Amino acid sequence: MPVDGERTAEEWRRHAREFVDRDLHPIAARIDREDRIPEEAIRALARERFLGLGIPPSWDGAGGDGRCVAAVLEELARGSAAVAVLVAVHLSVCASPILVWGSEAQQERYLRPLARGERIGAFALTEPGAGSDAGALRTRYTAGPDGFVLAGSKMFISNAVSAGIVVLFATRDPALGHAGISAFLVPPGTGGFSVAQRLDKLGLRGSETTELVLERVRLPPDALLGPEGAGLRIALTSLAGGRVGIAACALGVAHAAFEEMRAAVRDSDDPWKRHALARAYAELAAARSLVGEAADRRDAGAPFVIEASVAKLVASRAAVSIASAGVDVAGPAGVGGSAEPQRLLRDARVFPLVEGTTEVQELVIARRLLGEEPAREAGPSRGPDG
Ligand SMILES: Cc1cc2nc3c(=O)[nH]c(=O)nc-3n(C[C@H](O)[C@H](O)[C@H](O)COP(=O)(O)OP(=O)(O)OC[C@H]3O[C@@H](n4cnc5c(N)ncnc54)[C@H](O)[C@@H]3O)c2cc1C
Repeated sequence: MPVDGERTAEEWRRHAREFVDRDLHPIAARIDREDRIPEEAIRALARERFLGLGIPPSWDGAGGDGRCVAAVLEELARGSAAVAVLVAVHLSVCASPILVWGSEAQQERYLRPLARGERIGAFALTEPGAGSDAGALRTRYTAGPDGFVLAGSKMFISNAVSAGIVVLFATRDPALGHAGISAFLVPPGTGGFSVAQRLDKLGLRGSETTELVLERVRLPPDALLGPEGAGLRIALTSLAGGRVGIAACALGVAHAAFEEMRAAVRDSDDPWKRHALARAYAELAAARSLVGEAADRRDAGAPFVIEASVAKLVASRAAVSIASAGVDVAGPAGVGGSAEPQRLLRDARVFPLVEGTTEVQELVIARRLLGEEPAREAGPSRGPDG
């Protein structure tokens, strides 16, 4: 088999499938039960090069385009949705903005170890009072000759406990609106930066979701990612790409639930179960084609914001719908504590909430369909966009 950047999306998919069947799926129930991804599993993700996907080999990445990333995320999520989300966040909303916006020195310091899987990446935008309306964030920074001082808090941040670098957003002054927001690279261990409470979640257990506290965090001048004031643009473009990745993760959960259902229907004579299986297949096929279309448009450099939101909306709905039907088909056995159908349903149920809720995807789609300007630049906060 060819290595890294020479692999096609189908070769990456096969590689991921073998890894999932051999190493990941067998520990998925334990990850869920213990709400923890073992260190060894993270090392295995690095060894298999999944943590370097989409990053050029010149930065020690594994190369590959968005199709390759989507194929691998789908397969990983088929085994463990929590692990897939760890990889999706690491690649799409941490490594990717550093690749696009980082200086050469920032890329040397952070992108290279991210690509090798020596650091895990996180992305901190959401705050207790700023989720769907990300432009309303209140974490403040002041700028001086020695660099920046940040203060505030972040909420629901994935990967933050394990993170080796966090792409974090703060405003110079909320009165400046979107133009006041900048992006920073914050290495954990920086004084005043701490991980506070961790969310005990319904699904995606194992994927850390935590609050971050910033108390007079001092950062050097070269901690600024991209130009000052470009933060919201960096966040929103990263999230548009991230939605394709999260859609692929949801697709993986939908696929796993479909396969569980197929096995159960094989052992049954109930006609209604055949109808449920056929409906699930149609939903899965539609979601898969939309995820592929969004990834292809992104790879081709074509506008893909609508396609990414549509893919995320449809794939996360398909995951919930198929996993729910899977529980029906399995019957009481499907809701038992260690049963696969109930875990898949709990995992599926979280996808409509992450990287923009379903309502936010609808707003993004409607705004684009109506030809309205995305809320990217200066001006008061106008609500969610992508
Ligand atoms: C498991 C998990 C992992 C996450 N990881 C990260 C991460 O790594 N980094 C990060 O920055 N964030 C992360 N988030 C945060 C996530 O992106 C936000 O939860 C999400 O954007 C919603 O924001 P909110 O929680 O403030 O809800 P709100 O914005 O308060 O929304 C609450 C409800 O109101 C609806 N709503 C809000 N505004 C509108 C509107 N204008 N029109 C119609 N309906 C509306 C929403 O759809 C939702 O149903 C994560 C969340 C979860 C659950």
